[in-house]
Amino acid sequence: MRPLTATDILTVSERDLHPIDRALTMLAAACPEMDMDHLAMLSIGRRDGLLLDLRELTLGRRMRLFGKCPGCKRYLELEIFTEDIRSKALDSEAAMREDGLDVSFRLPNSFDLSAASRLSDLASAKRLLIERCIKSISRDGEQISLEDLDEGEIGRVASRMGELDPQADVLIEMTCPDCNHVWTSIFDISAFFWKEIQAEARRILLEVHTLAWAYGWSENEILSMSASRRWSYIDMVVK
Ligand SMILES: [Zn+2]
Repeated sequence: MRPLTATDILTVSERDLHPIDRALTMLAAACPEMDMDHLAMLSIGRRDGLLLDLRELTLGRRMRLFGKCPGCKRYLELEIFTEDIRSKALDSEAAMREDGLDVSFRLPNSFDLSAASRLSDLASAKRLLIERCIKSISRDGEQISLEDLDEGEIGRVASRMGELDPQADVLIEMTCPDCNHVWTSIFDISAFFWKEIQAEARRILLEVHTLAWAYGWSENEILSMSASRRWSYIDMVVK
């Protein structure tokens, strides 16, 4: 994996993509050694862990989050570091065992999420996800099928999948400095980083515009410079 260059950021940001493809496209640009299918087969937690690595390589460890207090409606800003939300990948066996029930499965990946996202109601999407990931189910040693599990058992399989892939489900606790209200919000690295890439692309275009206008350099020439060199020239132009 290498950091995204200015050219990568512009190319990636111009594509009109489904949220699941955004994550994979950002990674594919930075990991030429892995093809899209390989990336799509990583568990969501593993994929998000790589996105966190890429965010760190490209824009650094520090991240600024914004939220609105559900108590007093005040807008607030929170600073976190990539290491604060990094979970250890658990490589224990993907299985759930309880009272004679034995379910073995794999962890959901981007193909599974994409299939589930085409369904409109949450319950059928969750069921499809589980159906795709289950490898075998047995009760007291006898093979059974998903239809033989009750809703509670299906829910526990889903929770077990979540436990085994914690990076797929990052929660951040926020405290309001005004009213002391505490709440948790879901942090989605893919959506967060995509938004940053869009902002970064606008900034880079402005730099290209400023330097092309001042010096007559081509877009390629400007983009091939390091960010710090572009900033040094821009400093001289605006002074
Ligand atoms: Zn508040």
